[in-house]
Amino acid sequence: VVCVAEDFDFFYFVQQWPGSYCDTKKSCCYPTTGKPAADFGIHGLWPNYKDGSYPSNCDPNNPFDQSEISDLRSSMQKEWPTLACPSGSGIEFWTHEWEKHGTCSESVIDQHGYFAAALNLKKKLNLLQALESAGIQPNGDSYSLGNIKDTVKSATGFTPFIECNVDESGNSQLYQVYFCVDTSGSDLIECPVFPHGKCGSQIEFPSF
Ligand code: 5GP
Ligand code: 5GP
Repeated sequence: VVCVAEDFDFFYFVQQWPGSYCDTKKSCCYPTTGKPAADFGIHGLWPNYKDGSYPSNCDPNNPFDQSEISDLRSSMQKEWPTLACPSGSGIEFWTHEWEKHGTCSESVIDQHGYFAAALNLKKKLNLLQALESAGIQPNGDSYSLGNIKDTVKSATGFTPFIECNVDESGNSQLYQVYFCVDTSGSDLIECPVFPHGKCGSQIEFPSF
């Protein structure tokens, strides 16, 4: 029996709502491949410790190598688009996520496994569909934070952490949604610890 020592306790799987990234004072830039679909995009899969701290930049000798994930590239462009300025193809974002976070899980999953795990989690969760089926639509309306969380919990089986940011007028809005995943990167778990941060009790869900 071969044992692998894991140097983290669980992952956060983090998705971002593009409408809320873009309608801020800072604004956004669409990727060179064009405006992404109006769907949650992947931000990252982040190794974490149960005490709330996390490792980062764990292995400078294991840089991002796009040749290892060439079969995932078109899915990544759709499901993991970059919105930072200036416009990029995604390579810069994926490089950052792999080097800062992914290298800290390399004892469990390699680069291909890491990106494939994130893509599978997004598909499995189908977050936008879960919200829309309950009438929570990205149309600029405000929804109760409790209702959003209950809806996601009953659709997916897991309690999410909702992170808010503010639009140009200062309204609190749904920005990122966190789920917790076991160290294999494949199974969702209830979060051992939640990140910090506060939304209003009513938050906007802007269009994109
Ligand atoms: P922010 O300051 O915007 O919350 O986070 C900036 C970056 O720090 C995130 O994009 C992520 O890379 C990292 N980060 C923030 N909070 C956590 C956390 O709880 N766990 C991990 N692994 N990374 C985090
Ligand atoms: P983290 O917050 O995970 O440490 O890293 C986010 C980094 O990726 C930032 O340097 C940010 O500029 C870059 N980045 C590129 N595209 C995106 C995007 O679409 N969303 C976010 N949150 N960061 C992006």
